[in-house]
Amino acid sequence: MILPKGAYIERISKKKQNLYVNGEKIEDFVEHPNIKPIVDSIGLTYDLAQQEEYKDIMVADSQFIDEPVNRFLHIYTEREDLIKRLKLARLLSGKLATCNYRCVGCDILNALYTTTYEVDEAIKTSYHERLKNYIKYVQKNDLAVSGALTDVKGNRAKSPHEQDDMYLKIVQTKEDGIVVKGAKICQSGALVVDETVVMPTIAIKQEDKAYAVSFAVESGNDDIIYVLQNNAYESKKRENPDWESGNPYGDRGTFLVIFNNVFVPWDRVFMCEEYQYAGLLVSNFSDIHRYVGSGCKAGFADTIVGASKLMAEYNGTANASHIVNKIIETVKGTEACYACGLAAGYEGVKTKSGGWLPNALYSNISKTLGLPALNNAVINLADITGGICVTSPSKNDLENPEIGQYIEHYLKGSDDVTTQDRMKLIKFVEYWISGPHLGGAIHGGGSPVTPNIFIKRLANIDKKKDLVKQLLDV
Ligand SMILES: Cc1cc2nc3c(=O)[nH]c(=O)nc-3n(C[C@H](O)[C@H](O)[C@H](O)COP(=O)(O)OP(=O)(O)OC[C@H]3O[C@@H](n4cnc5c(N)ncnc54)[C@H](O)[C@@H]3O)c2cc1C
Repeated sequence: MILPKGAYIERISKKKQNLYVNGEKIEDFVEHPNIKPIVDSIGLTYDLAQQEEYKDIMVADSQFIDEPVNRFLHIYTEREDLIKRLKLARLLSGKLATCNYRCVGCDILNALYTTTYEVDEAIKTSYHERLKNYIKYVQKNDLAVSGALTDVKGNRAKSPHEQDDMYLKIVQTKEDGIVVKGAKICQSGALVVDETVVMPTIAIKQEDKAYAVSFAVESGNDDIIYVLQNNAYESKKRENPDWESGNPYGDRGTFLVIFNNVFVPWDRVFMCEEYQYAGLLVSNFSDIHRYVGSGCKAGFADTIVGASKLMAEYNGTANASHIVNKIIETVKGTEACYACGLAAGYEGVKTKSGGWLPNALYSNISKTLGLPALNNAVINLADITGGICVTSPSKNDLENPEIGQYIEHYLKGSDDVTTQDRMKLIKFVEYWISGPHLGGAIHGGGSPVTPNIFIKRLANIDKKKDLVKQLLDV
């Protein structure tokens, strides 16, 4: 089913959440200046699905409920699904210049689809059927689903069982379900979704089997507490929710999510102590999420390229050859990352479940290309903008009756551009330079070393050595 944005907002407005922002408990969260941009971002994923122009990318035919569904809830059953998923990521990142908050949930559902099939086949469990029923439920109700992997981890040198619940764990198994305890951190959008699907963040050994757990929870659970991140942009948004903070869709709302002995009924449990398969689930998820990340970075870069060109025009430098070259450099880096993502999609493989996974090697390489591409894009944008990229006075200065005239005069660029428009763009540039997205590109989908581990395993380096040995007869 495809529902309008209003239906999503009405649903989440009715939920009672334990939310804390900057040490304060928040009741009316939907209108809160830090939360509203997240609601608006997710809202756009509903809005675009209603528009004819975007239907091909935003909407897919469900194999389960025989109805069109939002592509963020779709399971890939052909190569073309993978390609459209990548285009979906680029479309949303380009329109929002921030997170759409639905990728991780979608990617976990797809990773679970493939993994549960293989777990059931190997050890005769029935997780796959359960997962299919859950997918039918979220599709029928057009629910927004976020995804939670990242545990707080504590001392990284210790295993999960050596430090209690620094990784989320099963604390009780009951007749009707399980009870889980722990916390997931850096959770994009987790508060304002209908559902969150949870999975382990690392491969699990036998002694840690209580930590091999995957399940879905509905938002509005009394035993879950959400604490919003608090970076400079969140404070700014509270101080001045207008264009001062750069992006109307906010910076990138993530939460510490505390599971305080949360009960999960069996029909929502997709892994329960099958530690041997936690690694497979993590690697299937990583392949999908790193793949999707290349579309996400390309969409971000689309807005950086656009801002670079506009800034050059606002500053009167658009025709300078080194400025044009900087923009071309940004385009080359990001399109190379996206092209590698596309290759991962076109070289994708059908799994035993009928679901599809992107090519793992190209997916991991696209993640490693995305970080320098975004980094260089931001450097080029800062270069083109000038020092004002991080030194601009505020919107309040522009509107101040005593000094506004000076700001109006001294912050002006090209003749045909108003000072306010130039300042708005400067604030958008500042958002890219000092906002959270570079951190997101570094750690999203795993810290930089993790794709390298996969690449080393997948690149067939010894086979290439044999090629040379054969060639030279050595
Ligand atoms: C903006 C943003 C949004 C995010 N959104 C989500 C989300 O929606 N859902 C979600 O689940 N996660 C999300 N994440 C989390 C992201 O996946 C993690 O940050 C990432 O996996 C790294 O984990 P970490 O932060 O715990 O860092 P760590 O794992 O602590 O890594 C820090 C450094 O320590 C190294 N390291 C870690 N462990 C060891 C060890 N045992 N031995 C040696 N070196 C080690 C790493 O290689 C790295 O260099 C998000 C992150 C960001 C920044």
